[in-house]
Amino acid sequence: MLGPVILAASRSDRMRRLISAAPVTKQVVDRFIPGESVDDVVPIIEDLTGKGLELTMDVVGEDITRPEQAAAARDAYLRFVDRIKDLELGERVEMSVKLSMFGQALEGGHELALANVRPVVEAAAAIGTTVTLDAEDHTTLDSMFAIHEELRRDFPQTGCVIQAYLFRTEADARRLAANGSRVRLVKGAYKEPAEVAYQQKHEIDKAYVRVLKVLMEGAGYPMIGSHDPRLISVAQELARRAGRKLDEYEFQMLYGIRSDEHLRLAAEGHRMRVYTAYGTDWYGYFMRRLAEKPANLRFFARSMISKG
Ligand SMILES: Cc1cc2nc3c(=O)[nH]c(=O)nc-3n(C[C@H](O)[C@H](O)[C@H](O)COP(=O)(O)OP(=O)(O)OC[C@H]3O[C@@H](n4cnc5c(N)ncnc54)[C@H](O)[C@@H]3O)c2cc1C
Repeated sequence: MLGPVILAASRSDRMRRLISAAPVTKQVVDRFIPGESVDDVVPIIEDLTGKGLELTMDVVGEDITRPEQAAAARDAYLRFVDRIKDLELGERVEMSVKLSMFGQALEGGHELALANVRPVVEAAAAIGTTVTLDAEDHTTLDSMFAIHEELRRDFPQTGCVIQAYLFRTEADARRLAANGSRVRLVKGAYKEPAEVAYQQKHEIDKAYVRVLKVLMEGAGYPMIGSHDPRLISVAQELARRAGRKLDEYEFQMLYGIRSDEHLRLAAEGHRMRVYTAYGTDWYGYFMRRLAEKPANLRFFARSMISKG
């Protein structure tokens, strides 16, 4: 029951100020967001790629309110691409972006987000990598899918995310699987109303399996974004039944969550990509991680009380 309350707080400016200012916050944040700058995360990228893992990098930020912030987001990603080029890691490191950070919610936001994200996708392609468009709340998705389709005309490797908790997702999966897209399937991390989304865990898990089956049987490249051991086994079985080889799908998990499992899957020969976020605007990302697991919140609350 706590999850929805935390997700509501993730949109509150007052809570943002309170939590960001608490002295203990940083050490809890570090578990999920291991740095504020590219320099902070380069050693992590080198370490994880050295262990046989791949990465998708998120420069944290979302829901910006001024066009200059969208341009700053674009530039931050472009600086990141330059760094990956210098490290010659283009084949191992891709990027994840939230279109709300590229101006999607501003006036004329659809065009603005497309104009800002395109140079990042171009720069990524030039070094042999790609970009995946994260899925945010359900009101943003028609625009996200349209931008995805537009980018794929020139850069077919551009990926997108679909969320099992939404009723619309099975139909989206069919369309994306038919046109050969790279698609990350996740359960969904936002607070969504009962008119558009399943609310119960067992319903979401069942929907995840249905949608995953569509992706595995389709012509695209499925990316299984989950830490759920049951769904990981199901994915392996569905891939086997669909006759997919190990390089025809991949697993993805978040930095700081079930890290042993990242290594176990990679050691079994699976392609395993770690979603790693960095940057200073970490509040929304951090709150979603707290909402996903009540134990995280209890740990955070205990730290606040004991150090407070
Ligand atoms: C690579 C990746 C990209 C994602 N991108 C998006 C996106 O674009 N849009 C979106 O809405 N959502 C996104 N998500 C989040 C996703 O929607 C879920 O909220 C999140 O993955 C938790 O669901 P789960 O499948 O891991 O299953 P759960 O049933 O929530 O978790 C299974 C197990 O994983 C562990 N676990 C899960 N979450 C946590 C946590 N926060 N802290 C500690 N342990 C945890 C626990 O052991 C838990 O029992 C992404 C997730 C991943 C892995």
